[in-house]
Amino acid sequence: MAGFHIEHFGCRAARADGEAMAGNLRAMSELESFATDVVIVNTCSVTAEADRAARAFIRRAHRRNPAAKIVVTGCYAQRAPEELAAMAGVAAVVGNSHKALAPEIILSLTRESELTRGAGRTMSAASPVPKCEGPGAPAVVPVASLLAASGRQYSVGAGQAPVSTPIWADDRFAHSFIEDAHWGETQPAPGAQTRPNLKIQEGCGNRCTFCVIPFTRGPSQSLPYAVVMRKVEGFVAAGGKELVLSGINLGRWGRDSEGSSRETLAGLVRAILEKTGLPRLRLSSIEPMDWDDELIALMGEFGGGRLARHAHLPLQSGSDAVLRRMHRRYRPWHYAERVAALLGAAGPDLTLGADVMVGFPGETDGEFEETLTFIRALPFGYLHLFPFSARPGTRGWALHEASRVPQAATEERMTALRALAAEKGEAHRRRFVGRALEAITLHTPAALAERGCTTALTENFLPVELGGRFAANELVRVRVKALNGDGTLKCEAAHTAVAQ
Ligand code: SF4
Repeated sequence: MAGFHIEHFGCRAARADGEAMAGNLRAMSELESFATDVVIVNTCSVTAEADRAARAFIRRAHRRNPAAKIVVTGCYAQRAPEELAAMAGVAAVVGNSHKALAPEIILSLTRESELTRGAGRTMSAASPVPKCEGPGAPAVVPVASLLAASGRQYSVGAGQAPVSTPIWADDRFAHSFIEDAHWGETQPAPGAQTRPNLKIQEGCGNRCTFCVIPFTRGPSQSLPYAVVMRKVEGFVAAGGKELVLSGINLGRWGRDSEGSSRETLAGLVRAILEKTGLPRLRLSSIEPMDWDDELIALMGEFGGGRLARHAHLPLQSGSDAVLRRMHRRYRPWHYAERVAALLGAAGPDLTLGADVMVGFPGETDGEFEETLTFIRALPFGYLHLFPFSARPGTRGWALHEASRVPQAATEERMTALRALAAEKGEAHRRRFVGRALEAITLHTPAALAERGCTTALTENFLPVELGGRFAANELVRVRVKALNGDGTLKCEAAHTAVAQ
């Protein structure tokens, strides 16, 4: 029987989009079966490597199942839709601007409806962009001309023929939220997918010089307060235990709200903790300067119980000069001051994480040393490391042309940072040996289950190998016996506990 498969690339927020899309599609396909297999590729475009990985997957999927219709969505689909539409096997490209309509578009592909046959036409640049009034009414727009009009660089391979594959993408992001997903109805029930993301914010109005997100996801938009609360209550009613609030720039939640009483992320977090019965809330990445005093105070008040003591603050560089070139809005000392306040509120069991970019244009040995020194001084539990990748249309592209860091230097710096990250990660985890921690059980890979163990994650974001078999989505208190070679904590269950 035909069906669909979704392959995710990219960050937590992008995954949340994909999960919501799959949930809606699952609900729709209960009413109407698929006439053909569909492979949905939810792409990322944060680096050239991310683009390459998506293209490689598309080629592989087409080779393995030439009859399947491949639908490409996500950030790469938004940034360079025609590049993807030209690939063999791709049946449609749906940019972030239209991803809320993706389930309808996908079902229409399997029906070979008017909708599909009508798509792919182009309109003149002067034509008004058709308004999307809801599912079933996709806009078909001249993507290349829109990109050119918005000053974005876009290249089609020399001599490449115009493609007839339908593309849904424009530079208005009115539909970028997938709002009609409901826990347990169109999204997988919490037991089937533990720790789901609830994406409450989309887009970003900052202009960090290396980042393509403002082009692929538009300006910041918030999911309204009432919708967020309804979704959290629905999650709790469906038996959910841990929910991750996520967004592209989560700390900006509420800043676009109208009226004098501007909503803040801290106000929303407090409302979730005080007005719903959610057992555990986790916050995903928040920019350093968006950790305001009120949000930090919540870590002191609820941290370790219903609010996970886990803070991810993108750092990118520990050098003031590099941060300025990146157009980041904080200096290293601001970052250190926010971290000190967080540790003061949550205590030393807080797991602190960061993204660090290596080889930004013009980064000197001395500037990289500043980053190493800065990181050594702070108690990071983990680091996500990325080599700089020039993205078309960003200011970083021009900086890269003018002052690129040799690849060998970038690789050497990556190696040094990897070693430092491993050392700091191990030191952080080792502190918990002999201690008891709260955790949530996850779906366990078969090999581990055969050994009579269960995968879990502690409240403060440490991976656990738990002795004994437990169903997923249980809150358990674990005792840490040792640190395994792969970095997981070897634990035994102390007793089942619900963190209320
Ligand atoms: S804050 Fe900067 S890096 Fe983060 S999404 Fe916005 S532009 Fe990109």
